[in-house]
Amino acid sequence: MATWAEGVTVAVMLEFSTAAVVYCVLVAAVFLGLWLYYDRRDHLRFEAERRKTTFHCIRCDAIYAAAQGLQLCRCPKCGHENVRLRF
Ligand SMILES: [Zn+2]
Repeated sequence: MATWAEGVTVAVMLEFSTAAVVYCVLVAAVFLGLWLYYDRRDHLRFEAERRKTTFHCIRCDAIYAAAQGLQLCRCPKCGHENVRLRF
């Protein structure tokens, strides 16, 4: 039969392990949140970098790229405004 002291010890240990589990879950949640945040941010950055519109200058024959969504862009070499390349 358990004594009163043993009962208290078990209760304290249970409370401690519960606190440890809660602490671990909180730490895991914080790291998961940070990971998701930075992963999404890097992904968006990479997508913005990757998705570019290509232009071909009809005056000086240069090929250059600009941010996505632009229909018209000035040539960096000669300044002639070109429409985007369509494939
Ligand atoms: Zn040009």
